[in-house]
Amino acid sequence: MSDQLIKGLHHVTAMAGDPQANVNFYSGILGLRLVKKTVNFDAPDVYHLYYGDETGNPGSIMTFFPFKNIQQGAHGVGQAATTTFSIPKKAVEYWIKRLDHFNIKHKDPQERFDEIVIYFEDYDGLGLELVANDMDDRAPFSYGQIPLEYAIRGFYSVELWENTYELTESLLVNKMDHIFVNESGPRRRYSTSEKGKPGQIIDVLWDAQKRYGVGGSGTVHHIAFDTPSDADQLAVRDRLMQAGMYPTQVLDRQYFHSIYFREPGGVLFEVATTPPGFLYDEDVKTLGTGLKLPPWEESRRAYIEKLLQPIELKPENYASPY
Ligand code: ZN
Repeated sequence: MSDQLIKGLHHVTAMAGDPQANVNFYSGILGLRLVKKTVNFDAPDVYHLYYGDETGNPGSIMTFFPFKNIQQGAHGVGQAATTTFSIPKKAVEYWIKRLDHFNIKHKDPQERFDEIVIYFEDYDGLGLELVANDMDDRAPFSYGQIPLEYAIRGFYSVELWENTYELTESLLVNKMDHIFVNESGPRRRYSTSEKGKPGQIIDVLWDAQKRYGVGGSGTVHHIAFDTPSDADQLAVRDRLMQAGMYPTQVLDRQYFHSIYFREPGGVLFEVATTPPGFLYDEDVKTLGTGLKLPPWEESRRAYIEKLLQPIELKPENYASPY
């Protein structure tokens, strides 16, 4: 029997500008599958776009609220400032050429622990990395424009920027089933598995010199951790309250159930259930193709569809020329 209630990352949700540019970047250039096209449940005139692996497994899901006229945010303390994706070690050259081909500026590859890391940003300035490693046994997905052997496997990690690490570490380790696995300078790494498997890693970068972040496009809104069931979620919620956190009530997000709370370093955390998942209202073949509305908005479908800017998925425009 295991009493591990948190299994790793579930999803990362960020703010973006133009929805079509967002689709082009994540499905076209990065090759993630658009697994759900729905709306912000609290503001249905704004999309909520979900990208992930073939079926939208926890640990692969990057989601966006693209608002065309949103203010630009700034990276800083109190944010999940960099989201990283896992690629095979042999894919480094391929991805450098691919980013160059699509005019995506990136830093030179750097070594970090046992990995090779390439930093770049999306069209809105969101901090991203490709982390090349040989520890990922998850299945790749591609629409066909990226050879499967080089494709992204899901998240590698999320990097939190904080002023200190002690309180966040205490929360992760004592209440959220993480283990301290490694450190290098101001980077401390935690994971829900001893070896720090891709998709289960949180890096805390504690550096008091950094300024506080400002929310807006190009910034992460919150990160979500994966819990297997509703009962496990309630058990986590109890633990969090005992630790002095203020988790919300359980909210129904259609594809998972959620609680939210702000961790001591200022980053908004969510704990989301694995079920029901993204196959709840579409099958593997049609996943991400329909505009999905929550039941209480169905009667307003025609009105909402008129408010939303049409978006097109055209991964074939993003084939590698090599
Ligand atoms: Zn969320």
